[in-house]
Amino acid sequence: MGRFAPTPSGPLHFGSLVAALGSALEARCQGGRWLVRVEDVDTPRAVPGMAEAMLATLERFGFEWDGEVLWQSRRAGIYATALERLKAGGHVFPCACSRRELAEVPDSALARDGSLRYPGTCRNGLPTGAEPRAWRVKAEGLIRFEDVIQGCQEEELARDVGDYVVFRADGVFAYQLAVVVDDAEQGVTHVVRGADLLGSTARQIHLQTLLGLPVPAYAHLPVATNAAGEKLSKQTLARAVDEGSPSHALAAALDFLGQHPPNGLNGASVREVWAWALENWDLGRVSRVLQGVAPELNYI
Ligand code: GLU
Repeated sequence: MGRFAPTPSGPLHFGSLVAALGSALEARCQGGRWLVRVEDVDTPRAVPGMAEAMLATLERFGFEWDGEVLWQSRRAGIYATALERLKAGGHVFPCACSRRELAEVPDSALARDGSLRYPGTCRNGLPTGAEPRAWRVKAEGLIRFEDVIQGCQEEELARDVGDYVVFRADGVFAYQLAVVVDDAEQGVTHVVRGADLLGSTARQIHLQTLLGLPVPAYAHLPVATNAAGEKLSKQTLARAVDEGSPSHALAAALDFLGQHPPNGLNGASVREVWAWALENWDLGRVSRVLQGVAPELNYI
């Protein structure tokens, strides 16, 4: 069972279409179910109405998901139970550091993704009088996994990531925690998503291990970028794919995923594109690269 889990902060751009298509086709071709989850756990950043618009767009592009859509914004109680389990196991600690204090720590080396690595200030207890703000997981151990597309991956958590947040100072559960709780509850066995999340996977496997949850198989697809090499997103002002010619965009997404759709599919109906894709999908043809430039298409 695979799933598509968009963050509803922007429209369905080409990169999201690629991730949705790759995960849906892989699930279907494995005889599995395909689930859609709205990852709006970061409620302050979710744009009202955006998720509904995305779901409607997916339908216009011929996507059919199984079962009910799961909304993370309605599941805080379930994530709280997982946090309690991490507390009971001694895997997390309260942290009183503000972002400003962390930025001022002179010798805090950077994490692998260039973000600040937690210097360990509150790891062995809060400074006297300090109020807990967030909860962090003690990053320990070496995580190794075989990504179906990107091959063998390895992360030394303490060195590459550092103690990471599972409950934020603003009262929001971190994406990393929500995602592993939901994947387990929904019985997700295969996660097919963009390679921008490759660097989150070790933390997710770490949390699955601490919580005694099954570890799904991971396949990270190349991420679509603009001509400057930036990931398409709200921040890089990616435009929405044109719903006026869905089969055109679907064929371009198949091409991006290395499937070589025949030229004839360009003028075909959405149903015909899906029929071809279901018949011919082969994950093995997706290139083993982290990113690729999105094609010129009609955007709105
Ligand atoms: N919500 C994430 C995003 O839109 C995807 C999460 C996932 O597939 O695990 O980038």
